[in-house]
Amino acid sequence: MPLIPLEDAWSHIADRLPRLPVQAVPLADALGLVTAEAVVAPEPVPPFDNTAVDGFAVRAADVATAPVTLEVVGTVAAGSPGDVEVRPGTAVRIMTGAPVPPGADAIVMVEHTTIDAGGAEPAGDGEDRNESVTIGRSVGPGQNIRPTGDDLAAGDPVVGPGIELTAGHLGLLATVGRSEVAVHRRPRVGVISTGDELVGDGSPLAPGQIRDSNRLTLIALCRQSGFDTVDLGLIRDDEAAIEAALRAGSGDCDAILSSGGVSMGDFDYVKSVLERIGDMRWMQIAIRPAKPLAFGLIDGVPVFGLPGNPVSSMVSFELFARPGIRAMAGHADLQRRRVRAIADQDFVRRSDGKVHFARVVVDQDEDNSFHVASAGGQGSHQLSAMATANGLAVLPDGDGVRQGGGVDVILLG
Ligand code: AMP
Ligand code: MG
Repeated sequence: MPLIPLEDAWSHIADRLPRLPVQAVPLADALGLVTAEAVVAPEPVPPFDNTAVDGFAVRAADVATAPVTLEVVGTVAAGSPGDVEVRPGTAVRIMTGAPVPPGADAIVMVEHTTIDAGGAEPAGDGEDRNESVTIGRSVGPGQNIRPTGDDLAAGDPVVGPGIELTAGHLGLLATVGRSEVAVHRRPRVGVISTGDELVGDGSPLAPGQIRDSNRLTLIALCRQSGFDTVDLGLIRDDEAAIEAALRAGSGDCDAILSSGGVSMGDFDYVKSVLERIGDMRWMQIAIRPAKPLAFGLIDGVPVFGLPGNPVSSMVSFELFARPGIRAMAGHADLQRRRVRAIADQDFVRRSDGKVHFARVVVDQDEDNSFHVASAGGQGSHQLSAMATANGLAVLPDGDGVRQGGGVDVILLG
């Protein structure tokens, strides 16, 4: 069977992924969800010219030759309509966020003013006593004023489709008067481990047994990716049991991840079950690790049949399942960040027609350049290096990269 280039394997998957339904959710419930609409500002933000400081609203021309004393003719607090006019020779006491009163074109910070004796406090009874203020510094027109639309003009884009909503986005949406936003449903991903050799409950290992690690790592990777998860259990190498688990998952989940049972072994039943009950393609991909992958749909629900070796299942998750489920969830940006890094050691490999993904530790220098070194043993069963790694160095087919050479790195998390 010919090896399939990574890009072709990805296109095959990407072309078959459904999009999750769109729903309107209250902003308070929308953190981390992915927008399904383009929101534009219906009104300017801020909606009126307002002061950035506590102080006095003045006419800049009146204070051009500070110090100068002005009559205080009123007070505008945040939230008040701010309709006291500032005529020549007068000032209005003003609080941060209050509208700039008519006639004023600049604000003097309170720190640069002195209230003249006889009127240190605002009247509080609705009447402004005869009060004057000495302005210690001149201000130019517009100074300390936040103009209408300074953040967003009416019609400006607020957030586009396919964006994962952050705290800042939610604040921005509230600022333009939204209480709900259209988002894709958060994906619900079922995870299955398969293998007769696996022990999942911490009990002592009998000869030939190992512990199930994939279910835990895959569930954790899903959660890190913002997906909800369902633990579909540890399933024996038994066709009926695997079929039952996949069918249960397809009834309850938006996507399923299984690990194991997709290689060339005698008991690799995930492959055969998917072939029988799902619309499945088994691929041998020109990558290392994570060469085998069974991708299929059961009743429209994508199943990623990931390889069993612990590192392979994680790398396959990164290369196929994570971007695939992100696509289902409506993300515009599917892939992890890739950077160009300097190899701090030789990364030797032999030409075998495959792209290799080395588990590496990525560091950034003071000059911001990225550097990579091996995270440890590179066997697909060696989880230690995967646990230490924060990147996958992409080694194209060939004889590797020498120390000091450039290498692309996928940053994990
Ligand atoms: P398989 O793809 O089922 O042939 O498994 C390949 C290798 O991965 C074998 O050495 C399995 O024992 C190991 N393996 C499979 N599933 C798991 C798992 N859930 N946790 C840890 N190792 C596993
Ligand atoms: Mg197996």
